[in-house]
Amino acid sequence: MFDAVLIEKTEGGSRATLTQVGEDRLPPGDVTVRVAWSTLNYKDALAITGKGPVVRSFPMVPGIDFAGVVEASDHPAYSVGDKVVLNGWGVGEVHWGGLAGKARVKGDWLVPLQAPFTTREAMAIGTAGYTAMLCVMALERGGVTPESGEVLVTGAAGGVGSVAVALLAKLGYRVVAMTGRPEEAAYLTSLGAGAIMDRGEYAQPGKPLAKERWAGALDVAGGQVLANVLAAMTYRGTVAACGLAGGMGLPATVAPFILRGVTLAGVDSVMCPRPERLEAWRRLAADLDPRKLEALTADVALADVIPTAERLMAGQVRGRVVVPVN
Ligand code: NDP
Repeated sequence: MFDAVLIEKTEGGSRATLTQVGEDRLPPGDVTVRVAWSTLNYKDALAITGKGPVVRSFPMVPGIDFAGVVEASDHPAYSVGDKVVLNGWGVGEVHWGGLAGKARVKGDWLVPLQAPFTTREAMAIGTAGYTAMLCVMALERGGVTPESGEVLVTGAAGGVGSVAVALLAKLGYRVVAMTGRPEEAAYLTSLGAGAIMDRGEYAQPGKPLAKERWAGALDVAGGQVLANVLAAMTYRGTVAACGLAGGMGLPATVAPFILRGVTLAGVDSVMCPRPERLEAWRRLAADLDPRKLEALTADVALADVIPTAERLMAGQVRGRVVVPVN
């Protein structure tokens, strides 16, 4: 038996509890992992609180990420004792996830733990940090360089945003951090932000084209914020869009695309092909300052994950959360 967060269907929706489950209940898969560390992402908080339709089969162990040690393997690439990391692939949505003592998954979904990271550091990065890196790579593909001009990061005090600020600053970009939490200005500056911008500035509908300001932007908000970001891109700028923290809609016009040649690059981490995942982890090892990673990370016990998910949905969690499991 091992501890697990379990989401069960109820009449009105779903309910998450901390419980004990037996190994015989683990789903099919060719690799069984003793989970060392997991984490709490926005999507996990949506699943646990029932505020978003993340869970597609009940009962479900949430947790779209885990890092741990292989306990049993029928997969040629993995042997007992190997340290592995999992991000996405529908784990924690359709297949039992990482917020439990053990997980059983397809070996093809795993990646080896990237040196020099520990399992805890890999989860401090987690899907949020690996997505931040995928976004940085999308900006680079769009031709955005530190010489191009300022880069905006929205939702900067959140998980994706915090890692993005640290990464972009280390790469030499001048980063403007947009936040709804002005009290986090000193934190964002310590991660490398050159300036802080109040989220309220982009809360209302603006003009189809605004003054050109951003050479690049990394957006976790969507909605009105993304529409205003697009309108303020410089000629041929690129926006990497990965989130919907501010809404699913996009009340924008085509003006930035057809008059300024702006690129809107969509970023998905869940089904991202393996070579790009491995490249993102390699880049994280090279370009993320470990001291900044530590500064943006907080530990939360498995027993406290459910109330922390409520706080995350309320926008009260800063940076990344790691969960010691074993
Ligand atoms: P967090 O909850 O850690 O951070 C989200 C941040 O968004 C908040 O901290 C806040 O930043 C900002 N925010 C909250 N409400 C609003 C709002 N109404 N308008 C604008 N900004 C708002 O979540 P993550 O960083 O883990 O995830 C961020 C987004 O990215 C989520 O939508 C998530 O689903 C998505 N995501 C997508 C992935 C993909 O593969 N495409 C992978 C990972 C995440 P502040 O306090 O600074 O204002």
